[in-house]
Amino acid sequence: MLSAFDLKASELRLGANNYKPLDVVLTRGEGVWVWDVDGNRYLDCLSAYSAVNQGHCHPKILETMIEQAKRLTLTSRAFRNDQLGHLYEELAELTGSHKILPMNSGAEAVESAIKAVRKWGYEHKGVPEDRAEVIVCANNFHGRTVSVVSFSTDPTARNGFGPFTPGFRVIDFGDAEALEAAISPNTVAFLAEPIQGEAGVIIPPEGYFARVREICTRRGITLILDEIQTGLGRTGRLLAEEHEGIEADVTLIGKALSGGFYPVSAVLSNDDVLGVLQPGEHGSTFGGNPLGAAIARTALKVLVEEGMIANAATLGQYFLDRLNEIDSDKIREVRGRGLMLAVELHPGSGPIGDYVNALKDRGVLAKDTHDTTIRIAPPLVITRDQIDWAVEQFAAVFS
Ligand SMILES: *Cc1c(COP(=O)(O)O)cnc(C)c1O
Repeated sequence: MLSAFDLKASELRLGANNYKPLDVVLTRGEGVWVWDVDGNRYLDCLSAYSAVNQGHCHPKILETMIEQAKRLTLTSRAFRNDQLGHLYEELAELTGSHKILPMNSGAEAVESAIKAVRKWGYEHKGVPEDRAEVIVCANNFHGRTVSVVSFSTDPTARNGFGPFTPGFRVIDFGDAEALEAAISPNTVAFLAEPIQGEAGVIIPPEGYFARVREICTRRGITLILDEIQTGLGRTGRLLAEEHEGIEADVTLIGKALSGGFYPVSAVLSNDDVLGVLQPGEHGSTFGGNPLGAAIARTALKVLVEEGMIANAATLGQYFLDRLNEIDSDKIREVRGRGLMLAVELHPGSGPIGDYVNALKDRGVLAKDTHDTTIRIAPPLVITRDQIDWAVEQFAAVFS
């Protein structure tokens, strides 16, 4: 068997160098905990970017996966399967959506929504062919495909990857006036994250999304919310839009839709937008497969039945309060909603990687984003005692 050292060497020698992981080689996970190959235990404060909201290796999702894998895994959409209809019903019941498109990765859900809303613009709004525009926000993160990075404002995500897909216009996040001003006769949609995750857990000003909703309705454009990270309980509600008292026309979910077992994403839509897709116009070999659908059904079920969403609300506030109590001249701000939290350090506090490594040495795995911010997003099954312990580690590292 290869040692941790050898495994890292193999990754460096043979793997594409598109990630710079922490120096830890994990081999097992359970609930909020993960273990490395040397037997050290860590509290996971990243949750695979919120894909394991239900906790690592949730036993009920695991059981569903094993049972379904023994029965039927993939049929393609050339045939029907006995899981997808159930997933549709359960998702529609939970979210109130009228049409659903199953895909695999988050980026695919974003791409699919863009395709559908463009066609909707041509058919329902009379936008001239090939002129549809989608308005997006600066510092967005919606994935890594060519069209999606075409409207990124992060040079690292974009540089060297052109030519880019046209048809996007970028405005500031949190500025409803800018949205109003950017809408043209060819605008078909506004696409945004309810809370910008990769940008460092950026929460928009109070009332922003209520105004956005009003503008989109009045100007006849589709509001698409990317809830791939904020959705499925992370912020203490099933969808983060609930905090804003609004409903998007199209909602994108992924990540925790499978509890981390399998890539499953979905476009949740009103009747009109996904209603434009006809046979042959869009698809995915694995999208809507019975294994993914069965896993997603149980992932949603445990999220609701085991009280994880309420736990995220209550313990998220508790975690935020406890982090705010840490006495440190390095911390500039602690912010968050539910269990989507971030600690931002003052610019002069030294390399962020040093803090992340110090946390790792104390048994807490967290990841920095954008030089001064550490994101804290544990599985939603975390307990008060575990938070108390985590806060001790944060306090020791930041004080
Ligand atoms: C992770 C993420 C995506 C992309 O999902 P992938 O499964 O990595 O393609 C898109 N939008 C948001 C907000 C995300 O956090």
